[in-house]
Amino acid sequence: MRALTWNGVNDLTVERVPDPQIINRQDAIVKVRLSSVCGSDLHLIGGYMPAMERGDVLGHEFIGDIVEVGSDVHRRSVGERVVVCSFFGCGQCWYCQNDLWSLCDNANTNPGLTELTYGQPLGACFGYSHALGGNAGSHAEYIRVPYADHGAFPVPERKAGRRRLVELIRPKAPRMAQRLIDDVFDALDEQTVVVPGTGTLDIVIPSLAASLAAVHTQRRALEAQINALLEAHPLSPVLTSMPGVGVRTAAVLLVTVGDGTSFPTAAHLASYAGLAPTTKSSGTSIHGEHAPRGGNRQLKRAMFLSAFACMNADPASRTYYDKQRARGKTHTQALLRLARQRISVLFAMLRDGTFYDPRIPEDVELAA
Ligand SMILES: [Zn+2]
Ligand SMILES: [Zn+2]
Repeated sequence: MRALTWNGVNDLTVERVPDPQIINRQDAIVKVRLSSVCGSDLHLIGGYMPAMERGDVLGHEFIGDIVEVGSDVHRRSVGERVVVCSFFGCGQCWYCQNDLWSLCDNANTNPGLTELTYGQPLGACFGYSHALGGNAGSHAEYIRVPYADHGAFPVPERKAGRRRLVELIRPKAPRMAQRLIDDVFDALDEQTVVVPGTGTLDIVIPSLAASLAAVHTQRRALEAQINALLEAHPLSPVLTSMPGVGVRTAAVLLVTVGDGTSFPTAAHLASYAGLAPTTKSSGTSIHGEHAPRGGNRQLKRAMFLSAFACMNADPASRTYYDKQRARGKTHTQALLRLARQRISVLFAMLRDGTFYDPRIPEDVELAA
C-alpha cells in the first residue's frame, strides 16, 4: 500500500510500504477513508518528538471501514465504518477502567522515553513516534487498530444532509440551528484537504503532505521572528555553534541557564537540568541505571531533544551514541548519556566563551 512516511526532519514522502497485518487477536485492520492533519504532526516533522525513525507512517485522526478483525474482537465487525481515537488503550488496566486511556499501562510497548521526558509514562498513539509505541499512522491506505473493541466507534453510513441535521439539532437550539449547520457546511467547503474516498489516493496523500507543508511554512515565519530576537543576544553565536542547538533550544538555554555563571561546576548545571547520574540502586532496573527525576523540566526536555536532534547532524555525537549502544545501553540510556555529555560541553563553552569543538567526545564524567 501507499503511505506518507517520515524520512527525517522536514522530509516526508509517499512510499510503498507493506500492508498491515493482524498481529494480536484484538486487532482490526481498517481501510482509511478520511485522515485528518493535526497540528501535532508538526512536532514530528520538525524533529521535536524524539524516537521517530526513518519510514514511520504519520497520521492519528481518522475514519475508515473495518476490513479484517482478530479472533478476540467481539464488538466490532468487518464492514463497519468506524472513527478511531488517536490514543488507544487495552480496556483492562486501572487507567483504562477509569477513562484515563492515554495513560494505559499495556498499549505502549516502549513507555521508558515518555517517563524520562515527561516524568510519567504515556499510553499508545497512532503515528506518533516510538516513544508512543511506534504504531504506524493513518496517512495510509490501511491501518492496524489494536484493541479495536475499545477504541473504534461506529459512525452512520448515510450522508445526513443539511436539512436533516437542522431538524436533528433544532430541539436543542431552536434559534441557532440553521445558522450553525450553515457554518459547519461553509467550513467543510473551505477545507483544503481532499477527503479520501472522494478522489483517488494519487490526489489524496500528496495533498495531505501539501497541507502539512503550508502549516509548517507559517511556523517557519514565527521562527524567523524569534531568530531575529535571538541574534541580538551576545551569547547566541556560542550556543548555536553546538550541533542540535537551534533557535528554540538556544532560547530555552538563555532563559534557564543565562550565561552559566551561577553554576560553579558542570555537575551543578547537570544536576539543575535533572541530568546528573543517579547513584541510588534500588534494584528495580535490570540495567542499574535510572531515568533521573526532578531538575528544571524545561531545560531537561530541551537538552534531551537536542541530543536526539544532533545525532543526525553531528557525526561526533552519533559516534558517541553508537559507542554507548555497543556497550549494551538502550536507546534512552545512550541518549541520556549524550545529553549529560553535551551539558558539560555547554558549560565549558559558556565559561570560556568558546565555540563548539567538533572532536569526538570522550566519555567524560561530570566531576567539574
Ligand atoms: Zn492530533
Ligand atoms: Zn489499559
